[in-house]
Amino acid sequence: MDLTLTPKHRALREEVDAFIAAHRGAAPRPGGGRKRPDRKALDWQALLLEHGYFARTIPREYGGFGAPHDVIELAIIADAFSRAGISPGIHNQGISMLVPTLLEVGTEEQKRRWIGPTIRGEVIWCQGYSEPGSGSDLAAAQTRAAVEDGHFVINGQKIWTSSAHFADMMFLLCRTEPEQPKHAGLSYLLVPMNAPGIEVRPLRTMTGRAEFNETFFTDVRVPVDQIVMGRGQGWHVANVTLKYERLLLGDPNKLQQRFEAIRRMMEQPGAEGSRLLDRAEWRDRLLRLQGEVMAARHHNLRLLTEQAEGVDSGLGRFIVKYHGTMLAHRLASLALDAMGSSGLPYEPQGEAAEDDAATTWQIDYMYDIGLIIGGGSSNIQKNIIGERGLGLPREPKAAAPAGRN
Ligand SMILES: Cc1cc2nc3c(=O)[nH]c(=O)nc-3n(C[C@H](O)[C@H](O)[C@H](O)COP(=O)(O)OP(=O)(O)OC[C@H]3O[C@@H](n4cnc5c(N)ncnc54)[C@H](O)[C@@H]3O)c2cc1C
Repeated sequence: MDLTLTPKHRALREEVDAFIAAHRGAAPRPGGGRKRPDRKALDWQALLLEHGYFARTIPREYGGFGAPHDVIELAIIADAFSRAGISPGIHNQGISMLVPTLLEVGTEEQKRRWIGPTIRGEVIWCQGYSEPGSGSDLAAAQTRAAVEDGHFVINGQKIWTSSAHFADMMFLLCRTEPEQPKHAGLSYLLVPMNAPGIEVRPLRTMTGRAEFNETFFTDVRVPVDQIVMGRGQGWHVANVTLKYERLLLGDPNKLQQRFEAIRRMMEQPGAEGSRLLDRAEWRDRLLRLQGEVMAARHHNLRLLTEQAEGVDSGLGRFIVKYHGTMLAHRLASLALDAMGSSGLPYEPQGEAAEDDAATTWQIDYMYDIGLIIGGGSSNIQKNIIGERGLGLPREPKAAAPAGRN
């Protein structure tokens, strides 16, 4: 990985800085993946796509900008938006998880149909993986889909389904081959959320808001071609998506955005005129986290380079989710401390509450505890790092409770 800027890269940096200076008034607040994008967010997304500051390397025929893969270009763009505190575009489960999955294992028809509307923010996806009896042990999923008259007929229940209350589509992991061993009996379906027989019931988190849901399926019919790869190959596809989910949840650019926002907050004079940044204990806390954010960003550049070269990053890839979600929570914790007493009062309100800076940090602080669990808990990440990354012996399985096999 060569981080030297060529004249072409320096020109891009100037171009992005000039774009941000000219258009910053049109940008929505950074974040917002927890609600449906509004008109402002969609217009901003369209502008970023047009200039190649979003979906830069996705081929043009699928709605992207079609630029060749250049790690330094991606880093320059991400860095410019972070430094300016400007939204780098929409990041949600469809864009960051389903789109790369389809690019990797989808059919040509699926890529052409879904990638464009998804990256434009027009089609919102949710992830139907977890069930009441299978979270960490995802391959134990029991939601069934039987084939009848050219359709999958789905029955069962999912839980903790983020965004299901406003999503248009779900990527669903379900059991289509019940006679096969558990990992070989799964399929990965694309399901419209307005299909008859789907019921979504909200679940409230400690933020006081309903951000995820229970999703029930009763005889939901989906044409048999709405499957990614083949029947029984769902475990493979689900793991492709999980790979991208870990990167989304530990996203170093989000960490950089957060760090810059805290730095700006600590540079502001407080009520008595002094700045937190001038006090050694606060500066020390900030610098320690800055070191970790920088390490995460450089680690990401290495992963992007390896991805572009077709190298499997193995251990390097596994640690992103574990480290990134813990660090994001520690950053939100520092932000709340830096706000002092103004960070304390919290009134759980509707989605509009996220437009207020103090409330955003409070929500991040609480919601991030969930992200340490979501997408595979930290305990599970440590197992994966130990077993698949470091080649340590597998963790012994706990004995099944009496009466269960
Ligand atoms: C904010 C949030 C958003 C989410 N969004 C979605 C979503 O959109 N779609 C979706 O499908 N799911 C979603 N989830 C669910 C999430 O993926 C699961 O909560 C997670 O995989 C853990 O599963 P579980 O809750 O069933 O816990 P369990 O699997 O029951 O685990 C309970 C505890 O035991 C530990 N544990 C379990 N097995 C092991 C083991 N082998 N070794 C060591 N420790 C172990 C876990 O770490 C955990 O601490 C979300 C969760 C959260 C918190």
